[in-house]
Amino acid sequence: MNTTGSHRPKKRLGQNFLRDRAVLDKIVAAAELTPEDQVLEIGPGRGALTEVLAPHTTMLVAVEIDRGLQNHLMPLSNAHPHLDIRFQDFMKTEWAELGFVAERPVKVVANIPYYITTPILLKLLQAVRLEKEALSTVPPLAERILLMVQWEVAKRLTASPGNKDYGSLSIIAQYAAEVSIVTKVPAGAFYPRPEVDSAVVMLKPRTVAPVAIDDAAKLFRVVRGVFQQRRKTLQNGLLAAGFERPRLEAAVAATGLDLGRRAETLSLAEFAALANTL
Ligand code: SAM
Repeated sequence: MNTTGSHRPKKRLGQNFLRDRAVLDKIVAAAELTPEDQVLEIGPGRGALTEVLAPHTTMLVAVEIDRGLQNHLMPLSNAHPHLDIRFQDFMKTEWAELGFVAERPVKVVANIPYYITTPILLKLLQAVRLEKEALSTVPPLAERILLMVQWEVAKRLTASPGNKDYGSLSIIAQYAAEVSIVTKVPAGAFYPRPEVDSAVVMLKPRTVAPVAIDDAAKLFRVVRGVFQQRRKTLQNGLLAAGFERPRLEAAVAATGLDLGRRAETLSLAEFAALANTL
């Protein structure tokens, strides 16, 4: 890792820099990069991951919000002409600005700041579009997304029905992508050391919906609604989310679902069946 400059880690920007080479190598191996791939790194920081990624890439765009890291990143960009560092806020960056060509695959490989994990994930998965359009009509932004997230978030992203970590994030992520945990990462792999463990997760955005959905907006509304009332029965959660009793009765008649169950016991397919009949 480049250690020039007098930059001090900024907690408010989620700056926990990776310092474990074995973890960096695992991330890069999981990306399975080919010369065809165009790679996006969000938050290169002092360049620990960038430095390991650069020799495996032919196009690498890195978006960093903190200009104070210029002294660390500029030597890397001088050493690797195909590395394009942008000092800007990723959340305010339009995908088209990144300059990726449509003909080649994109992979996202990043140790992201934890204060915006969910917004970054939802942006990369195009959750806003998926809520309005059929999944098959929304081409994925990236073929593979490898992200360092808090261990708690990794558990939520990959949780199955019946698990205490299962909730709306699990369902939305698993509807949009195949999700798996690559490796757990202990807090000691970072400087400064965060308070929690982390994990590298891999998301492969889907091109075909995993379940038949008539109206994705309704599915999202049902899922968000019932998980806001996690402890309640489905029936009470759906009533609180604004669905009226006669519609619930019709849904029970059509699906045979028991609305006395808790939301956390329903599979994605059951949520889809419920949303399709509500
Ligand atoms: N990739 C480096 C590493 O592994 O050592 C740094 C990871 S650190 C967890 C997250 C990085 O994201 C920091 O460098 C931080 O400044 C940057 N960052 C925070 N908010 C950002 C945003 N909105 N857009 C782009 N980068 C951001």
